[in-house]
Amino acid sequence: MRASRMNLVTLREDPSEAEIASHRLLLRGGFLHKSGAGLYLYAPLLKRVIDKASRIVADEISRTGGLEVTMPIMQEQALWEKSGRWATYQASRTMLTVRDRGGQVFGLAPTAEEVVTDYAATVVKSYKQLPVTFFQQHTKFRDEIRPRFGLMRVKEFIMMDAYSFHDADTSLDQTYDAMRVAYLRTFKRLGLEAFAVEADSGAIGGNGSHEFMVAADVGEDTILFDPISAYAANRERAVGRISLASRWNSAPQGIQVIATPNVSSIADVADFLKQNGFPDLDATNALKCVLFIAQVKPKSGYEFDPARGVTFANATMKKFDEIAIAAFIRGDRDVNEVKVRNAVTRTKGVEVLELRPMLPDEIRQATNAEPGFAGPGSSLKVSIALIDEQIEKNVPLVVGANKTDHHIAGFVLSRDVVAPLLYVDLMTVRAGDTEMKTGNPLQERRGIEVGHIFKLGTKYSAAMKAEFTGQDQKLHPFIMGCYGIGTSRVVAAAVEQHNDQDGIRWPMAIAPYHCVIVPVGKPGDTAVEGAAQSIYDALLAAGIEAVLDDRDQKPGVKFKDWDLIGIPLRIVCGRGVAEGLVELKPRDGAAENIPLASAAEVVIGRVRAALSASQAAADAVR
Ligand code: ATP
Ligand code: MG
Repeated sequence: MRASRMNLVTLREDPSEAEIASHRLLLRGGFLHKSGAGLYLYAPLLKRVIDKASRIVADEISRTGGLEVTMPIMQEQALWEKSGRWATYQASRTMLTVRDRGGQVFGLAPTAEEVVTDYAATVVKSYKQLPVTFFQQHTKFRDEIRPRFGLMRVKEFIMMDAYSFHDADTSLDQTYDAMRVAYLRTFKRLGLEAFAVEADSGAIGGNGSHEFMVAADVGEDTILFDPISAYAANRERAVGRISLASRWNSAPQGIQVIATPNVSSIADVADFLKQNGFPDLDATNALKCVLFIAQVKPKSGYEFDPARGVTFANATMKKFDEIAIAAFIRGDRDVNEVKVRNAVTRTKGVEVLELRPMLPDEIRQATNAEPGFAGPGSSLKVSIALIDEQIEKNVPLVVGANKTDHHIAGFVLSRDVVAPLLYVDLMTVRAGDTEMKTGNPLQERRGIEVGHIFKLGTKYSAAMKAEFTGQDQKLHPFIMGCYGIGTSRVVAAAVEQHNDQDGIRWPMAIAPYHCVIVPVGKPGDTAVEGAAQSIYDALLAAGIEAVLDDRDQKPGVKFKDWDLIGIPLRIVCGRGVAEGLVELKPRDGAAENIPLASAAEVVIGRVRAALSASQAAADAVR
């Protein structure tokens, strides 16, 4: 490719809207054009990178036996009603819906379980056809609340989504593991350091979900890990043991209601009581109460009855589909909302569609008090009260009194609770908590989620009556797995991992071009131009993706552009040509002079070596 025909447009200054390296550099290098909020045009350079990444992803998924398909982006509401997910996606407002001229409503694919399950039900009739995996690489749409960070979190993006169908759990386990390996191979080939962590798997629990993370300070996910035992989990899912609460020796023997005027936060309450008769009290002796409203829908086959199950005696329901939840945790800790959500779904005959903190008015209704004074006393009006299982039951605590400006000191859970509290894990684990099995302290780091694998079981197939005939001649719902890689996010993550102050440093396998040849001679210097042209021709003939920078620009400008754009190898033809030498400068290494006569050969060797090194890294994955 001749650079003069590439419509190269680079920016010297950092665009003000770009907060992270990948966003900044992709904009500056002319890879991206913002077309709307969370909507990007992939410019020619980026299109090449995305296509290469897509091919590697597709190649590795095919290698597991996956069959590539293309599914429609517009998906009928009726199909999503069958799985029961229409309501979920409406509640979270993640799915954009459109209406056709006949008034029929469609969702724009945020994912494709319904479509593929419907397909499998039609084309897979017998256990003899199982297992089978269908995958695609196609545009997904999600109405993200906060699109940001360029390609990282957008409304429209490219995802590889694969779905596997099985007649037995053991078969699902095999494919799940094959996918895990395929993912690790994919990331190696893409030049990315990625690792698997345990992820939230919804209300069912179990070990059926892993996310693949690229470590990066700008990542939106927090990972808790133990380097010794290799335990690693997303914070949404992580479990860990917290340190013991401190002993509160000055606590009253029985319950004591104490006026705590205008102190509502745990820290303030602890400080106030410390100065008013309880010198050795701290936040670990307090019980924090977080109040939520869960938007729910009854699970199929369950008669929804708000007065049934684990319910406070005077439970109230604002509406049929909204229930009040209290979550108690030790005063110095935070509630994990994903765990709350899963616990509620497990507890009642309902599925939580959305969980949100109560508004002040709702808190007043639930507690008969201003916000900040909620406690586990019987006057709390919620449908479900959850409490973290690590809280000690036989020690005195400070709790809210459900009365404005009042707390109760000396509250002992095992003695003083009258309404049912459900003990579950609600802990937001943090660095310093210890790993459950080994007792090693957990560490924390940030990560970018680039992929996800998930054992779905029969969730979709049972709901959608997608069945096959088993060896026993009976009908069974498919056992399913689903697998996603955010191909476009992967490209942004690669830039996060490979950049320096001058720009991007693409790994060879996904670089838009392998190399660039820059002639730097006086205009009309035929020796230099001829040398550049001959190397260029030889590289093209060998199938190397080369650019010849024939632009009428100063060498310094050209070098800056290619450093920013991130081409792995640069060949400069200048004064040395007279002595039969050219300069070879890897983007991530030092310049060296090489003979003009063998320059093309050397570059071909370097490109092929880099490509086979990433392939070898993939082959080493177990
Ligand atoms: P996140 O927690 O980041 O929103 P998710 O859990 O919604 O991700 P999945 O539904 O598992 O993501 O989708 C599979 C993959 O698609 C993710 O691992 C990620 O790489 C990619 N992805 C998801 N949402 C976006 C987005 N808004 N923009 C770009 N890529 C995305
Ligand atoms: Mg998401």
